Amino acid sequence: MNAIINVQIYDYISYIDNGYVKFNEEIEEVGTMQDFQGADEVIDGKGCILLPGLTNCHTHIYSSFARGMNVAFHPKSFTDILNQLWWKLDKQLDQSAIYSSAISYGIDCIKNGVTSIIDHHASGLCIEGALETIGDAISKRLGMRGIYCFETSDRFSLDQCIQENISFQDHISEHAGSMFGMHASMSLSSDSLKRVSDVLGKTPIHIHVAESMEDVQNCYKNYGKSIVERLDSYGLLNKNSILAHCVHINEEEAALIAERECYIALNPTSNMNNAVGLPNYELFRKAGIRCLLGNDGLGANITRDYLNLFFAMKNRLCSPMKFSMDELAQIIRNGYEFIGRSLNIPIGRIERTYKADFVLVPYDPPTPINKENILGHLIFGVFDGFRPKQVWISGRQLLRDYDLIFDVESAMKEARVESAKVWERLM
Ligand SMILES: [Zn+2]
Repeated sequence: MNAIINVQIYDYISYIDNGYVKFNEEIEEVGTMQDFQGADEVIDGKGCILLPGLTNCHTHIYSSFARGMNVAFHPKSFTDILNQLWWKLDKQLDQSAIYSSAISYGIDCIKNGVTSIIDHHASGLCIEGALETIGDAISKRLGMRGIYCFETSDRFSLDQCIQENISFQDHISEHAGSMFGMHASMSLSSDSLKRVSDVLGKTPIHIHVAESMEDVQNCYKNYGKSIVERLDSYGLLNKNSILAHCVHINEEEAALIAERECYIALNPTSNMNNAVGLPNYELFRKAGIRCLLGNDGLGANITRDYLNLFFAMKNRLCSPMKFSMDELAQIIRNGYEFIGRSLNIPIGRIERTYKADFVLVPYDPPTPINKENILGHLIFGVFDGFRPKQVWISGRQLLRDYDLIFDVESAMKEARVESAKVWERLM
């Protein structure tokens, strides 16, 4: 049995000032130091906070190969951003590029304390087996948790996209889950939606919705209705589906999302980077929609997005009071609840029987810290420049004194070779 001792423990519900956690694959015991009675292996967490491993609920792993990519880039619209950058890149991804980009992205995630991700994948040169390849890298090789899907769209063979989403459902485990991936309304014809609808059953979908006004306008122009109405008219809005962005939805759409018990994945940093606007969180709150937080593949440091959401929503809603610390904490808890339910395991609490997925992060507060103000310490201190020292998933230590247990050097070397090949193909 392992133990972390002399540590401040916080899981967005409970706080222990000077505590210990005993764990194997699962957490076996949590308490205050006066009750600690020894363990086989003990790590001193003095001067550190122990948090549940972080989640990223909407990302694109392959985006790690876009870093520094030099292509002609003069976008005048969101569609231009897709055409000039993302669709150029994903079209040229083959199996070795998928594997290598996933390993390099996963390494970055672990360094940043992210232990579970929800990925949205596309790769033009490898559709069949793409999700298994990502799962091999992220879930099997690195031991992280991931929920995977393939972006079904009219850009690729529809049959292959559909088949890949279905096939991966045979590979699920505590570390790998699946959803049904679709790109966006604007890249899916009526016939495509019908064909997805025919095979979907109760599987939740993962799709971009109203990320830009172009998606909205395309839908009204071609189909005479809003995007959410359009998806619903094909029976696609299964319970626990993820609609990413929803920057430009209206009240009726919000009500329908709530009624269908779908989630919205917010990606404020990406929205700002693409200059598509910011979602109206007040609308979501009023409708009673549960929100998740992702970063749309923009790096791996999700605490940056925690903070950007916190600041951006106040600005969007024109009031420093309209997005609270508790709302951020609720969105973080929603991520654990969503991923835990999908993988059929308890994560996100530092409590007995939960999986031992956690991060130990040094923090030397300049002011007193307690149960009432710990969230403020996280938001205005710990999350800023967040760099965990130790990371565990299922009790297995993946980051030890800031170093990964994997051969990072050769993985990154291989990623540079593979990414260069992809770049060469797309020039
Ligand atoms: Zn996305």
